[in-house]
Amino acid sequence: MSPRTAIVAALVTIAAFAVMAQEPKKDELKKEEKKSYKPGDMTRPRPKVVDPGSTTPADTPGKPPSDAIVLFGGTSLKEEWVRGGKKGDEAIPTWKVENGYAEVKGGGIQSTRKFGDCQVHIEWATPKEVKGNSQGRGNSGVYLGGFSEVQVLDSFNNDTYPDGQAGALYSRFPPLVNASRKPGEWQVYDIIAQLPKVEDGKVTRPGRITVLHNGVLVHHAVEFGGKFGEFNISLQDHGNPVRYRNIWVRKLGEYDDGTPPPEKK
Ligand code: MG
Repeated sequence: MSPRTAIVAALVTIAAFAVMAQEPKKDELKKEEKKSYKPGDMTRPRPKVVDPGSTTPADTPGKPPSDAIVLFGGTSLKEEWVRGGKKGDEAIPTWKVENGYAEVKGGGIQSTRKFGDCQVHIEWATPKEVKGNSQGRGNSGVYLGGFSEVQVLDSFNNDTYPDGQAGALYSRFPPLVNASRKPGEWQVYDIIAQLPKVEDGKVTRPGRITVLHNGVLVHHAVEFGGKFGEFNISLQDHGNPVRYRNIWVRKLGEYDDGTPPPEKK
């Protein structure tokens, strides 16, 4: 064997071992196989229940950041919201506003402003007195344009299809965990939404959504295909008296878009 042939033979042997090492064993394959589920599938595993602790105040609404656009501060919906699809006087929200919260009544509402990349903070509470079950218990929801509804539901000891429970991206993804508080207690969603990036008519980066439920991460940068632009924020009327308070939005900035540094003296 010439020295050259020997080198080639050695390289072939090393490559063969490398391929063998990369091949997953049979039981590893089994572990990686993920079952797929249809929307509303009751056979889907239930998200693990997590106590959200006290990262957000349960008794009083928090104070919005100074650069937030407040969509509901506790006194009126008239300035920032309309009833979806209505005009004139019909468009005035009919929700009950009292004691710093707005309660679902007479149709869903929609923000008059539109938003692009943003951070949305929204506090909600399902009725303290438990009525109904599954999807009929404290159902409402937050809609942000082309993303799925971020489901609002009383999911404290209330079984339903996982991609329809509180914190789910409805019909698409169950929350990573169930961080629900008890019925009647205030809960919080912090949602970070990023629009799809469109260049020359093509989507070069899909839209992304991240959701925290009571400070606990339940979706991380989940991608949504399709072209969609700035959106109104909508809150669903699903026939249950769900309450909302302290709703604000921050537009997402870019790095280094602050104020110039002070001049050197
Ligand atoms: Mg809903």
